[in-house]
Amino acid sequence: MNVTILVPVFLGWLAGALVNYLADVLPARRRLDQPTCPQCGTQIRWADYWLLRNCRACGRHRSWRTWTTYVLGLVATVQIWLFPPRGLGFVLGFILLVYLATVFIIDVEHRLILHPVSVFGALLGLAIGIILHGTASTLIGGAAGFGIMFILYYFGVLFARMMSRRRGETIEEGDALGFGDVNLAGILGLLLGWPLIWIGLLTAILAGGAVSLMLILGMLALKRYRVFTAIPYAPFLILSAVFLLYR
Ligand SMILES: [Zn+2]
Repeated sequence: MNVTILVPVFLGWLAGALVNYLADVLPARRRLDQPTCPQCGTQIRWADYWLLRNCRACGRHRSWRTWTTYVLGLVATVQIWLFPPRGLGFVLGFILLVYLATVFIIDVEHRLILHPVSVFGALLGLAIGIILHGTASTLIGGAAGFGIMFILYYFGVLFARMMSRRRGETIEEGDALGFGDVNLAGILGLLLGWPLIWIGLLTAILAGGAVSLMLILGMLALKRYRVFTAIPYAPFLILSAVFLLYR
């Protein structure tokens, strides 16, 4: 057996552990802190946390997301070790994978893109973008991603306002598209650069729209349609960027 395969296996485990930890701690505590049980709030001992033991106070099992993330982290890391993505290479591909997976999970679980996470992503996107396709393409790509998504966000707010006035009811501002999605589109613009960000955004918006349409039709069929169920664009933005970057 080739011993070097143990390197990506270890790194894959590390990726899973890191993504799980960040996704567990950041939305709840907003800093790198000791994890607490989501069910009873008791602090989890570090040893118990890393060994994936159940909560000592309430017996809660570790989430299925924890296990899935470990498995997918391992599979993805071994994959990019064996077939490093063109341009990115293994090291950058690995760091970016951890970052995007963290943003993906936090957004799916909490509908939230945290500000410090966006700032970190902008710096990472800037560095990787410049390495991949130079300064000009990176900066224009970032501005385009941010700008296009901002316009969509603004129209979403206007549309929501118009509909609520027509119905004579108030709804929360900015429901149609969260502002975190705008920041994320800017980060992906830096990563993909100009003009590739166009394809990234288009793929994400079409996929997000198609899935939302199916959900709305499903809810209509079940007569459970709620007005303005916001489209969660972030997961689609991330998937389309991964598709374009990890080739
Ligand atoms: Zn507990």
